[in-house]
Amino acid sequence: MKSKNLGINTICTHVGEVEDKQFKGAISPLYMSSSYAYEDVDVKRYPRYFNTPNQEALCKKIAMLEKCEAALIFGSGMAAVSTTMLAFLHKGDHVVLPQTLYGGTYNFVVEEFHKFGIEYAFAKGFSETDFSEKIQKNTKVIFVETPSNPLMRITDLEMISKLAKQRGIVTMIDNTFASPVNQTPTDFGIDIMIHSATKYMGGHSDILAGAVAASEEHIKQIWNLAKNLGGSLSDYTVWLLERSMKTMVLRVKAQNKNAKKMAKWLEKHPLVEKVYYPGLKSHPEYELAKKQMNGYTGMLSFEINESLNVGNFLKALKMIKPSMSLAGVESTILSPAKTSHALLSAEERKRQNISDGLLRFSVGIEEVEDIIADLEGAFKMVSKMEKI
Ligand SMILES: *Cc1c(COP(=O)(O)O)cnc(C)c1O
Repeated sequence: MKSKNLGINTICTHVGEVEDKQFKGAISPLYMSSSYAYEDVDVKRYPRYFNTPNQEALCKKIAMLEKCEAALIFGSGMAAVSTTMLAFLHKGDHVVLPQTLYGGTYNFVVEEFHKFGIEYAFAKGFSETDFSEKIQKNTKVIFVETPSNPLMRITDLEMISKLAKQRGIVTMIDNTFASPVNQTPTDFGIDIMIHSATKYMGGHSDILAGAVAASEEHIKQIWNLAKNLGGSLSDYTVWLLERSMKTMVLRVKAQNKNAKKMAKWLEKHPLVEKVYYPGLKSHPEYELAKKQMNGYTGMLSFEINESLNVGNFLKALKMIKPSMSLAGVESTILSPAKTSHALLSAEERKRQNISDGLLRFSVGIEEVEDIIADLEGAFKMVSKMEKI
């Protein structure tokens, strides 16, 4: 399957299969070998060289999904993020990033970059000025994350790529929240797409993995460092990820649909103060999201009334699990103030609009009526408790 014009579901199901020449099985055989012959072969295969049969095959699927020439799969999303950034940033270089970043990426930047002599600046907001005012002569990379975590703010990808191209800066996006189903950043000129495949690509809360897609040339540059850092993924997990990705579009579209219904339902709820979802007209970047996204994702955030106790609300849920991760087929929920943003001061949280009543909601594929019933039950139980 090589054609560039395949539909996204066909790419997910078929592209990059390892052909079972021996037994003609219907799915990719799994090659767990960590050692391959080196005589009379063109390619020296080794799992840490990112080139076993299963690794190479899955990379083709991911590259085609992101409309790129090449891809690499990593042992975690953070292995993908860190290796990619370090491949393009040397001593004395500078990178511009958004203020609201995935916690692991933020920690990587502030805890590690000074050791390498890499400079960085965080844009104050999401506008062109917010980014352009941070660009310096030595800026080599602009890194964005859109939709952002947890308030689902949207950054204009075309604006970012124009800013960067004029100055010869490389652009990177953490495309995890959107997944390749909901956003194709290459269409807007972004150079390098990074995923935590732990999330929508895996989709079942049982795989830790990462991926990067870009041009042949950029992937070569990342590979040169990746083979030295050694963040490759076990072939068994590569094989599981291939299996998961066959149904990615079906899952993500079901999650998009449920999340939109939930966002509308929550927006009307008397005990909900605010809903953050790019698919709502009330979202500050609704028009931009409509322009650059194919769907609005299964992620949303909402603020419950301050008279309600967040801990009690989460405990009152029967089906929706309080959980750190996201994007599984099951609905999960998390309090950013208590988890991902707990280390920030109360003032800093307030500045970033992360209130104590804010909940980040990863909407699953359950029947939407059952998700509503679970939330409504919790609202009823907790509001009764507060009255006592
Ligand atoms: C989870 C996540 C990561 C990190 O991925 P891991 O697989 O946990 O290493 C990076 N970016 C975003 C947006 C994430 O949600």
